[in-house]
Amino acid sequence: MNKVVLITGGSRGIGKAIAFEFARKGYNIVINYMAADKDLELIKKELEEYNVETLFVQGDVTDFKRWEEIGKEVIEKFGKIDVLVNNAGITKDTLILRMSEKDFESVVDVNLKGTFNVTKNIIPYMSKRRCGRIVNIASIIGVVGNAGQANYAASKAGIIGLTKSCAREFAARNILVNSIAPGFINTNMTEVLSDSVKESINNQIPLKRQAEPSEVAKLVYFLGSEENTYITGETVKIDGGMAM
Ligand code: NDP
Repeated sequence: MNKVVLITGGSRGIGKAIAFEFARKGYNIVINYMAADKDLELIKKELEEYNVETLFVQGDVTDFKRWEEIGKEVIEKFGKIDVLVNNAGITKDTLILRMSEKDFESVVDVNLKGTFNVTKNIIPYMSKRRCGRIVNIASIIGVVGNAGQANYAASKAGIIGLTKSCAREFAARNILVNSIAPGFINTNMTEVLSDSVKESINNQIPLKRQAEPSEVAKLVYFLGSEENTYITGETVKIDGGMAM
């Protein structure tokens, strides 16, 4: 029986690359998406070329009740969830002096509270089977902070704390919980930056370039698969040496 991975925000960017990495390894894929304007049919077709089954579930990670339903839908189709990847995330960058209360709340609501909402509704299915892996996508900004990203940094630092608490609470149930802290990755989130900003960030990276989502996906696969047997509560940086 194939293993099952659920990825939040899995229809583009890093989440989509994670879905393809797990599909290549023979996992059945559950992709959560929020907006329905993507070419989901094409993604489905391409994933199923790896001879795996897929399920696409619409849902906002800020909607706690919806995640109760999603958990049931996945169990109805696949009977279990082996791996959860909390990937959905947003930015609303501005300096604190200009940051509205709403800018702060909405980023924390999606990135941090969303990770809680999904975990809280999915982890009981892992706990019952006494096995599972959770990988939370934090950020290097949650480790080192950044001017203009107080809301985002706070949300990602919160994810790191949440990860450690979950790892401690569920270790006895053989559920390994880790986060990763990506640096500068080539997705829609960073595409909006001007070329000069991109160049200046690249100059601060020892490897002198952005990573592709597929490079991040390989790390998520390792931490989320049974190849990882002894890492839990960790935050693994994948940043080209940016924050060593
Ligand atoms: P994208 O902007 O390309 O994708 C974000 C994803 O999150 C989309 O799939 C989007 O879904 C989903 N999403 C946003 N809000 C919600 C919500 N309320 N409910 C459900 N899904 C939602 O970003 P990336 O791929 O770059 O980012 C993925 C993760 O990686 C994020 O957590 C981000 O913070 C983190 N990260 C990214 C870095 C980078 O340099 N790109 C660096 C460090 C961390 P939809 O398409 O349906 O709107």
